[in-house]
Amino acid sequence: MSEERKDKIIQDGVSRRSVLGIGSAALAAAAFGELSAHAQTREGTRKAEGDHSSSNPGQENKPLLAENPHSNTPPPTDQGDVGPIWYSYDLTHKRIQEGGWTHQVTQRELPSSTEIAGVNMRLTAGSFRELHWHTADEWSIMLYGNARVTVLNPDGTILIDDVSKGDLWYFPAGFPHSIQGLGSLAEDRAAVGGQKVQSPIQYTFRMEAMAPTKRSTGGEIRIVDSHNFPVAKNIAAALDIIKPGGLRELHWHPNAPEWQFYMAGKGRMTVFMPVGSARTMDFNANDVGFVPFNAGHYVENTGDTDLVFLEMFKASEVLDFSLNQWIRRLPPEMVTSHLKLDNNAIHTIPAENLEILPR
Ligand code: MN
Repeated sequence: MSEERKDKIIQDGVSRRSVLGIGSAALAAAAFGELSAHAQTREGTRKAEGDHSSSNPGQENKPLLAENPHSNTPPPTDQGDVGPIWYSYDLTHKRIQEGGWTHQVTQRELPSSTEIAGVNMRLTAGSFRELHWHTADEWSIMLYGNARVTVLNPDGTILIDDVSKGDLWYFPAGFPHSIQGLGSLAEDRAAVGGQKVQSPIQYTFRMEAMAPTKRSTGGEIRIVDSHNFPVAKNIAAALDIIKPGGLRELHWHPNAPEWQFYMAGKGRMTVFMPVGSARTMDFNANDVGFVPFNAGHYVENTGDTDLVFLEMFKASEVLDFSLNQWIRRLPPEMVTSHLKLDNNAIHTIPAENLEILPR
């Protein structure tokens, strides 16, 4: 800064501090102004899709784009700011040590998920997840392989059980537990005192092996919560299998935000938030999804194999509202005046909460 300019500032009574203040305010205002000026509108996107506006002659990360076509070039209905709804374990670092590795998607990676954090872990055969406990409840599902889990009750009884692919366990906060490679289950149970110290409470559940809670030609959903797995008082889960072209119908959950883990296939989800904002993103195996409390969403299988994912809630039960069912429970004149659907169209909408729509 020239001496002359400094003098001018001093004369005007503007301190360095207030110069910075003015600068930042102007910057914030500029960013805000730009956001509103350039927020996507349906008309704008439709028009842009017809010309060369959406192409990018500059740099592109092509593998990432190919995996996330709808995240990058969203449908024209996307609008406004929904906040982060996607992260992937494959963007996090693995903590590798002898016997396996862990990687995590926590609030650091997905700031909007304040209630649930995820850990993806590999234990090689014969290795131990050391004896420990947590300050939060732990819900886990086996992705492959076999393991033995133990969990001690306050009354001194202990559960020792084996789990394999599709099985889950639930360890309440503070309950000491272990996870390890296998020996003989009967020998381990006998060695600690047999029947008389056996836990009367079941902490494991065969989720994949259970009969679907609901099933249609579009797929299946299995719900495990405190109604069929009493120990799961604070974490409820649904395992969705959606056939190619199938849809987890438009719904929302009135009791908790949703944390998702994608286990197989390809899908896309749109999340709707008040007022009028929407965000669409693509999801692949090993990705984590997040749906804010009460936000409407659907999940569509966009691949040619089954889309498999978990819906997780920090709640005692899975509760959802189906948009279809709501429409069908309303007097038809009310639907017609809101949605301009005639009586025939209204009656093609399923009246039940199907979870996964038939194809
Ligand atoms: Mn959901």
